Amino acid sequence: MNKELRQAIIAGNWKMNKTRPEARALIEELKPIAAEATCGVVICVPFTNLETAVELTKGTNIKVGAENVHFEEKGAFTGEISAAMLTEIGVEYVIIGHSERRQYFGETDETVNKRTKAALKAGLKPIVCVGELLWERECNITEEVIARQIKLDLYDVSAEDVKKTVIAYEPVWAIGTGKTASAAQAQEVCAFIRATLAKLYSKEVADAVTIQYGGSMNPGNAAELVAQPDVDGGLIGGASLKAADFGVLLKAASEG
Ligand code: PEP
Repeated sequence: MNKELRQAIIAGNWKMNKTRPEARALIEELKPIAAEATCGVVICVPFTNLETAVELTKGTNIKVGAENVHFEEKGAFTGEISAAMLTEIGVEYVIIGHSERRQYFGETDETVNKRTKAALKAGLKPIVCVGELLWERECNITEEVIARQIKLDLYDVSAEDVKKTVIAYEPVWAIGTGKTASAAQAQEVCAFIRATLAKLYSKEVADAVTIQYGGSMNPGNAAELVAQPDVDGGLIGGASLKAADFGVLLKAASEG
């Protein structure tokens, strides 16, 4: 299964949730729960909570991520944040190409690729999201869609850098909808992503990459999903907003 060749990571995606006092409370509640985990633990929080999260998680096993990053180093890009702005405050991860960014903010594979390269250049670990629409799954083109996203999103990313990159397989129809891909569906696509990486790079590289599942993962379904041979943890929206629920997922991935 080669699961020992890579780290399983549970990453929370808080999206546009939590004021600063709410973020403080959630992180304080999460700290003792996360301390039990042997999998990687990441919380990706809104820009306004990043400094608070970095400060509160110092000396713990919780790593902090942002939810987006711009590809230019600086300049006239109103409302955007550069990779250096994130690393200088201690941010280690960044979500790139989340389906909500693609759907509502015009994110394309080209900009996902640029953001991924900018993040890696600055020393951030990107969590690159890929996934098919329901319509694409119904038309039986899931693999074509995923292969295209992987090729374009990782274009010109070196083998060394791709090993630092986390891929999150997030079927768009399963995000925030309560509909989860079955464990078999998640395994099938995560294995396909790994096979695509093996073709583009090598088996050694593919075996080293963390490939998460994301889409309505919750305390009830996490254990079966993360036990799949090619599923290395998850990217978690709703269930990352409650420490107890997130804790169940951390336990599942630590044991999976
Ligand atoms: C996500 O936002 O990446 C996600 C998977 O959300 P949810 O867990 O709420 O479906």
